[in-house]
Amino acid sequence: MEFDEILADAREREITKEEALFLFDEANDRVKISQLLDTASYVRDENLGKIFKLKAFILSSNQGCNIDPPCIYCGQSSDKSKFFTKIATAEEVAESAKNAEEIGFKGVQCGGGCSGNKGSEAVEDTRTIRSVTGLDVFVNYGADMSGENILKLKELGVDSIGCSLETINEEVFKKIKPGGSLDERKSVARMIDEHGVGLASGIMINIGESYQDRVDHIFYLKNFANLKMVYISGFFPIPGTPMANRPPATSFDIAKTMAIVRLVHRDIDLDGSFGRDDQLQLWIMAGANHRLIHGIFEPKNKMSPHKFRGEIQDIGENYVFMNILPIYVNMIEETGLKADLSGA
Ligand code: SF4
Repeated sequence: MEFDEILADAREREITKEEALFLFDEANDRVKISQLLDTASYVRDENLGKIFKLKAFILSSNQGCNIDPPCIYCGQSSDKSKFFTKIATAEEVAESAKNAEEIGFKGVQCGGGCSGNKGSEAVEDTRTIRSVTGLDVFVNYGADMSGENILKLKELGVDSIGCSLETINEEVFKKIKPGGSLDERKSVARMIDEHGVGLASGIMINIGESYQDRVDHIFYLKNFANLKMVYISGFFPIPGTPMANRPPATSFDIAKTMAIVRLVHRDIDLDGSFGRDDQLQLWIMAGANHRLIHGIFEPKNKMSPHKFRGEIQDIGENYVFMNILPIYVNMIEETGLKADLSGA
């Protein structure tokens, strides 16, 4: 196998499993990584156009995460970095949706932890948002979703539901998500797919998995007829968690993985995750076409010091709305793509 030949073929057709693994191994210097990223950008432009979609992550009435023990990379496993310190009221959810619509978004996502309520918060939030806006709604509550609520969400017009496997290496999954079950996640993802709703699913990297695991995961996702989005979560250490001292996934490793996903899944949405939004332009060069913007709505007591800053407005007593959309639009336009807020 030759690196250049595979990339030339990849412009015209999906790559094979063997080729994907070869590219992971061989793209090991800046020249080869640039060539790989360039091919992924070409495939994105040809299949989806030079368009980059933006959606806003808004407030949710999600009751937090009750997974026990919590995942060891997550803020939930740290005394100082817990994510869920407040539960938004229906009024706060509605206000955040209205704010998102006012600044131009047509699509929003509600999400949260595995509260154990099987997605009932998603149903309530969607009803709330629909009663005050014309927004498209996407939801992501991990594995916490029942078939009944998937059907309710489908009836409400929800276009896609998230269920991330993170890794399909059983051993690594058990280590980083000791309170979760990979089989359960796979079966929720199957249920979403079988109900004819779009599936959004994530691959986490630099958590102890191998390149072979990543390749197996990328191709495992081909089993879902309604796969709509894949997002790459480059591990980043959160203070106070058991993984606080592990080095973060590097920007090259995240970009390489995104590019190889794009050479396989050629016409679906591809996003990044786990913060790291300062790398957005590199992700775009690696074939990404989508960003779900977190940090527009945040609890007042949790405003992260390394996130982007914009004009601030209070939502109720506990939250703030921060208009950081112009920062994203500027980053996208600098790459030559057009920012698209249409939500589709
Ligand atoms: S299920 Fe999600 S929110 Fe809950 S501990 Fe794991 S990563 Fe954190």
